[in-house]
Amino acid sequence: MSKQNDNLKPSIAIIGGGASGLLASIILAKRDFKVTIFEKNPKAGKKLLATGNGKCNITNQNLGLNHFFSSNPNFIKYPIEHFGYREFVRFCEEMGLNLVTNENGKTYPASLQASSVVDVLYNEALFLGVDFSFNSAIENIDFKEKAHLFSDEKTYKFDKVIVATGSIAMEKLGGSNSGYELAKKFGHTIIKPFPSLVQLTSNDKEIYTLSGVKSEANVTLLIDNKPQKTILADILFTNYGVSGNSILDLSREANMALLNFQKVDITVDIFPTLDKNKLLALLEKKKKLLAGKKKEFLLLSLINSKLIDFIYKKIKLAPHKQLIDDIDKKDLQSITYSLKSIKIAIDGSKGFDSAEVVAGGVSVDEVDNKTMESKKQKGLYFCGEVLDVDGACGGYNLHWAWASAFVLASNMRK
Ligand SMILES: Cc1cc2nc3c(=O)[nH]c(=O)nc-3n(C[C@H](O)[C@H](O)[C@H](O)COP(=O)(O)OP(=O)(O)OC[C@H]3O[C@@H](n4cnc5c(N)ncnc54)[C@H](O)[C@@H]3O)c2cc1C
Repeated sequence: MSKQNDNLKPSIAIIGGGASGLLASIILAKRDFKVTIFEKNPKAGKKLLATGNGKCNITNQNLGLNHFFSSNPNFIKYPIEHFGYREFVRFCEEMGLNLVTNENGKTYPASLQASSVVDVLYNEALFLGVDFSFNSAIENIDFKEKAHLFSDEKTYKFDKVIVATGSIAMEKLGGSNSGYELAKKFGHTIIKPFPSLVQLTSNDKEIYTLSGVKSEANVTLLIDNKPQKTILADILFTNYGVSGNSILDLSREANMALLNFQKVDITVDIFPTLDKNKLLALLEKKKKLLAGKKKEFLLLSLINSKLIDFIYKKIKLAPHKQLIDDIDKKDLQSITYSLKSIKIAIDGSKGFDSAEVVAGGVSVDEVDNKTMESKKQKGLYFCGEVLDVDGACGGYNLHWAWASAFVLASNMRK
């Protein structure tokens, strides 16, 4: 394509060279738009590199709408239905990016390296003629007859602008609130952002003594003492509270409740495979077998040794009861109850700097879900996590970035 023809193409600025910005640039370049990505980092896809513990859980085979959250869930339907799992896999394969899906539907690059995803997307964009301006943080946008972008005392003119700046989660990986600030200038409402897929904190100092203990457990979230949801997955006790997959999965609802000044607790059942009666029977059997031994032996092979002291303290076992023989039926019942239901008061989370994603963002009521164009400013578009859409753990957040960018770039009028 000659330079002159290039100048005749509609020019698009994309603010943000992350997941959604890269995908949008590829589709737009294929459709013969002239695309420039402005990225404040020296490279594209810094957050992408950290996804899925460096393996990048890129999407999920089970893309039910119940895995996505927004103040207006109807908004999500069109993008996810128009760019689902199959369409995304085909798109990746066409670029030479092969994927593998595990039995839970979680999908990864075949290399199990997030760097493969960044390399393929970035090189595909370069191959299609996308321009990259790195170390360019866009500070302001203004619309006269064209869109003007301002960065570091420089001004750039484009026909249209896409805000693909992501969310405020993990500043060290490029997270920023600049997308919200840019949107506000055009009268957009920002639904109060809060951290999701994040570790939870507790001021119950007893829990800190369990720091480092990891267990497969049934973890139940209680809001105002009412059970809301139970997740069977690992939990990690830490010196600030709790972490692990079960906690990340419950963190969105926990944080939302805390924002609404509700009481939040979790209960942890570290014997998810044995009901109370079976566990009690097991302890009774062990008591008989281990008569004459120290009380610790009752639980030694069943739970982490740090948990043993914790459980005896929790049930307030009388100090004189040092041998298994001293433990009576009532104590055994209390131990059983405690093992099935460790209650932890939650008082907060590790915040935006530790969160994988942010719930809230640019209100989707003010954006068209077929084109992702702002209803406040013609020529201004949004995609990815900057919008008030987030997903569960399992590849859903990246899928939102891909799907919102795809419909935006496919439906943009010339
Ligand atoms: C540790 C971690 C692990 C994760 N793992 C997974 C996972 O396995 N699966 C999954 O589905 N999701 C995962 N996520 C979430 C997922 O990474 C994000 O939802 C996704 O990257 C959002 O895409 P995006 O394009 O909206 O934003 P991003 O990918 O964050 O890209 C936004 C880009 O915009 C740039 N930028 C911001 N402001 C400006 C500005 N003013 N000017 C220029 N550039 C700007 C940023 O530097 C950044 O590069 C993870 C997140 C984290 C933090």
